[in-house]
Amino acid sequence: MNAPGHTGERPAPKATILNVNDHPATLYMVSHMLRMAGYQVLEASTGRQALTIAAGRPDLILLDVHLPDIDGYEVCRRLRANEETQDLLIAHLSAVSVQREDRIRGLAHGADAYWTTPMEEEELLANIEALLRLQGRAQNAVRARDEFLSVAAHELKTPLTALRLNLERALYLTTRAPSDSVPKPAVEKSLSPAMRQIERLQLLLDALLDVSRVTSHRLRLDVSAMDLVEFVGEMALRLEAQARSVGVTLEFELPHEPIILFGDRLRLEQVLTNLVTNAIKYGAGRPVRIRVEERPEWAAILVRDQGIGIAPEDQARIFGRFERATNSHQSQSLGLGLYITREIVTAHGGTISVTSTLGQGSTFQVLLPLRRTERY
Ligand code: ADP
Repeated sequence: MNAPGHTGERPAPKATILNVNDHPATLYMVSHMLRMAGYQVLEASTGRQALTIAAGRPDLILLDVHLPDIDGYEVCRRLRANEETQDLLIAHLSAVSVQREDRIRGLAHGADAYWTTPMEEEELLANIEALLRLQGRAQNAVRARDEFLSVAAHELKTPLTALRLNLERALYLTTRAPSDSVPKPAVEKSLSPAMRQIERLQLLLDALLDVSRVTSHRLRLDVSAMDLVEFVGEMALRLEAQARSVGVTLEFELPHEPIILFGDRLRLEQVLTNLVTNAIKYGAGRPVRIRVEERPEWAAILVRDQGIGIAPEDQARIFGRFERATNSHQSQSLGLGLYITREIVTAHGGTISVTSTLGQGSTFQVLLPLRRTERY
């Protein structure tokens, strides 16, 4: 998946453009210009030809309005009416002499743009690029959503299937046995994992809800003055218990002086939990160190593990939505934790970054501003 601002936002370099024009010289000139700019070009000089070639789904159709058989507006209308071609990108090209009403009609009939000629080569190319970029962005968003839906469905299905098996077994044991001899240990053996599976489902659903909140900019912080040192100290017990259950040691390095800032306790709890959970998950069983320090203007939280590390090319990407690094093939991973973490930290006016060496471990650093007031 492409992060915003990267290749995903640029038009595909080899985009295919269907150039429709009944004027041979203009057809030739525009096609030549497009080919020189690196596009694949298909040509049509009548409306019918255009409809036939459009079935091959070019990335953009440059559609002259005046055509000998079916005019450009009608071609556009038919393309939009056909399920196979209704989403194609269509830009009308016509002479400046065309009435304003006609241009409006063109757009109303479903064209995505209406450009009048003559137009400078550079300007036409810039317009084409902009339109393709817009389409690329929309396609990427849809692709990311589809990919995510399939990962999320898979992740939800796994605990659900196990949950069902455990409940079925418990039901079988309780209904089969006479009421006074229900085999309690066996029932318990099915019900305890069922509880864990429910917790897992709960966590996944919470993450999904968070993402939808964060993405639709509904992340509201409930800030109050807090002592970060005390706060991390309080969380230590819970985090230590979590680490101990998988045989990992946590080491806390907290300053003796309080560090006062304005923060949303529940959200900052999420930040620390996500970072420490990852450090445990990807930390190869080695100790994880959590350090809090005061710097000029900032409070810093550092979470360091000595695990698998993150490849340089993955280090920026993993903060994106649904992104997972290539060297970690964990199931139970939606690639959402760091995205939510970054959004929470940013909402606090802070930053998050990572330094890491493959095979040696990673350090995540969260910086939170000290002198912010309650107004975020
Ligand atoms: P998840 O862990 O659910 O996949 P995250 O957003 O928390 O989602 O992390 C994204 C990816 O970043 C992970 O899939 C993993 O590849 C990588 N990652 C995160 N933390 C660490 C870490 N401490 N060490 C190595 N890789 C990490």
